[in-house]
Amino acid sequence: MDFIPYGSQWIDDDDISEVVSVLKSNWITTGPKIKEFEDALCEYIGCRYCVAVNSGTSALDIAVQSLDLQEGSEIITTPFTFVATSNAIIYNRHKPIFADICSDTFNIDPEDIRRKITKNTKAIIYVDYAGQPCDIREIKEIADEFDLYLIEDACHAIGAEYKQKKVGNFADLTIFSFHPVKHITTGEGGAVVTDNKELYEKLSPLRTHGIDKNTMERFGPDASWAYDMKYLGRNYRITDFQAALGISQLKKLDGFIERRTELASIYKEHLSDIDFVSLPIVKNNIKHAFHIYTILLDKSINRDEFFKYMKAASIGVNVHYIPVYRHSYYVNNFDFDRTDFPVTEDIFKRIITLPLFPRMGLDNMEYIVETIKAYRK
Ligand SMILES: *Cc1c(COP(=O)(O)O)cnc(C)c1O
Repeated sequence: MDFIPYGSQWIDDDDISEVVSVLKSNWITTGPKIKEFEDALCEYIGCRYCVAVNSGTSALDIAVQSLDLQEGSEIITTPFTFVATSNAIIYNRHKPIFADICSDTFNIDPEDIRRKITKNTKAIIYVDYAGQPCDIREIKEIADEFDLYLIEDACHAIGAEYKQKKVGNFADLTIFSFHPVKHITTGEGGAVVTDNKELYEKLSPLRTHGIDKNTMERFGPDASWAYDMKYLGRNYRITDFQAALGISQLKKLDGFIERRTELASIYKEHLSDIDFVSLPIVKNNIKHAFHIYTILLDKSINRDEFFKYMKAASIGVNVHYIPVYRHSYYVNNFDFDRTDFPVTEDIFKRIITLPLFPRMGLDNMEYIVETIKAYRK
């Protein structure tokens, strides 16, 4: 069996020809395709504003920056995520505070958010783990009660829904990533969406050095040379040929999610009678986007042995995630105590991600299921 990765893009000839036609045009960056991609994302999600950038990490960074919080503010987030989520807090000189996760969805636990709130808490960044939206109503209630901003890291969850409404319509700011392992890809890329005009008007220049070209009021109507740097922005721009790929991929997103959902249900059907495996649950009132498919191993199974066994069979298993506070940068710069996160620690030791991507064949699926079943026989 050829190696089966845990995730992979699906790029067709029509995607490629969109990219090529931009490469043959005059605008390969900062051109019309950017706005077209942003408009298409707004239309898909049903939100007002979008700023496309060069990665999900950049999107998180400018999202936090746009809130203009006082230096050293506390932002509560989940430790069971990719490091970029909490790194964005540190880039902006704020303090990451982790809350433990729920044992059923592995999403941030609203009860533990409440316990971690202090007078310095200013925002919450929640992650829709694996593509399953968090308990957004409960999180919003907390945000309203304590006057906190909400950022939704929906890098796993584009196209997912909460109470029949697409993710991207709940938090003050929502983040997406278009890395090749995510639902749709632009190579590298990301976006922030919002309904808040004021935040949008900051996000847009933050992507391009904090420069505002609309400077008539400062230099007069004839100063066509003028620009003004209003904020300490970065160069987080995405190119037009990437945006063209994004536009083309977005048209296929619903089909990709459908296929992922179908594959997840096949996993469920075939793995549910294996006694040493527990399968992910899907809550009511949500549509799961199935970015990843994870299983939990029984405590009698050594996850690392099982991992090696699967890898030896050319199956690209993974672990999502090493809790952020376990990384050496966090150990060396903060004093998080693992025992504060009993659920995260337990899940981390038992979880394993199985391959799941739309182009995956049923032969691959069958092989993976049979390989799991043969373990411990
Ligand atoms: C992928 C991912 C990111 C980072 O996105 P990039 O586009 O790789 O920078 C951030 N948060 C989560 C939860 C992710 O899965």
